Parts: sequence; structure tokens; C-alpha cells
Amino acid sequence: MLIAGNWKMNLKYEDILKFKDILTDLKLDNQVEMAIFPQFPLLYSAKEYLSNYNIEIGAQACSSELKGAFTGDVSVEIISDIGCKYCIVGHSERRMFHNETNGFIKKASNLLLSKNIIPIICVGESEEIKNKKNTNQFIISQINECVPDNISSNLVIAYEPLWAIGTGVIPDYEEIFNVHAVIMNELSYIENLRVIYGGSVNVENCSKIFELNNVHGALIGGSSLKFKDFLAIYKSAVKQII
Ligand code: PEP
Repeated sequence: MLIAGNWKMNLKYEDILKFKDILTDLKLDNQVEMAIFPQFPLLYSAKEYLSNYNIEIGAQACSSELKGAFTGDVSVEIISDIGCKYCIVGHSERRMFHNETNGFIKKASNLLLSKNIIPIICVGESEEIKNKKNTNQFIISQINECVPDNISSNLVIAYEPLWAIGTGVIPDYEEIFNVHAVIMNELSYIENLRVIYGGSVNVENCSKIFELNNVHGALIGGSSLKFKDFLAIYKSAVKQII
């Protein structure tokens, strides 16, 4: 399982130290990975302070170009030098505010894989698509357009229904199970594929989500900013493994 905290454009350097301090009592389970995704300038410090605790570090986004005149973008080379294990690609906020398309996501994922960074590709339907009962078809087309062609392992898909992100509303558990099944079926050729759920995961709903046997973890926004909640969610995932 993977419990990933997407800090988005929140928290500061001092919060990395606070996070480290509350980790002292935590025993990480080797079947449940914890990863955090702070803002770019904090990645070095996060790596330095947290790697002793076996917490993985990831970037929230990356460029689809290797290097060059792309002011403000961050290359996969730098993300790799810092020691990130993961990079989120195509988060709905990047799709919405930075025009990241499926084509962009495929290209960026290819670059990440070439540097041995595991892409966490985000997919998810809008409320309109859900209401039209077109979710499965939509997710399949996103998967086909975003996932690199020759990939055989090292991929995480985050199923994040757009209407569930930051709203406090989640799909029925059966719906999460069904969409994860669709994704796993579509990508059955990928070894060790993990499909994680994201969208309003919290302390109350996490254990029911982790009970679903095709959920391999969670991408957590708001609840990852409250460290006690984030650790409680982590512990709930560990309980599920035992
Ligand atoms: C996200 O943005 O990836 C996310 C899952 O956010 P939240 O947990 O706040 O819904």
C-alpha cells in the first residue's frame, strides 16, 4: 500500500520539522509506504530530514521537457537528483490551471520512468460525466492516452473523481471498487501496478476504503496537512494489512 500526502501549495519549512518530530513514535510497516509531496523548494529538506524515517519524497508535478528555455518549470533530472521516488502527473489542478493534457502526461511519465521515478498518474471523471454514467468509458480513455506505451512495471494510478477532491464527498465504496477494477483490468499487463484512491479521504472514511481489496493506498490532500490525521490514516492502512 502507498499512503501519499499531497501538500499542494501549503505548509512551510518549519512544518517539515514538525512532521519529523511527530514521527518519532511511529513504526512504519514495511508493507505500507508513506510518501509526502511538499512544494518544490522544500524537497531537499524533506529528503534530508525524513529519509532516516523511511518516508519517501515525491514531487507534485514536472516538466514534459528534459531541459531548456522553460521558465518556471522543473525538470525530472532535478527531481531525480533530489532523490524523489515518485512524481504526481496530471493532477486535476494541473490539468485545470496549467493545461496539462493527456499527451503531456504521457510524455512526462516517459521521462520520469527514464530516470527511475515512479509516476503517479491521476485520472478521474467530472460530476457531469458521472451523472451521464460514462465514468468507466472516460477513465479507460484517460488511461489509454496517459499511460506510456512500453511500460511494464513501476506505475501508480490515482483514481481521483474531480467532484470528490476537497469537497468532503466520496463515491460509494462499491463505485470505488468498480472503477479500480476497470483500471486494473485495462492495465493488467503492468507488473506491481498500484491503484490508489484520492478525493476527501479522511480519518472517518479511510478504513472502509482500505478494506476494498483492489485499493492499494490513497492520495490525500486536506487530511495530509493535519499530521495527526495523516498518521491515523496511515495506521488504518497498516491495520488492513495485518
Ligand atoms: C487531491 O487533491 O489529490 C486530494 C485528494 O485532495 P483532498 O484529499 O483534499 O480531497
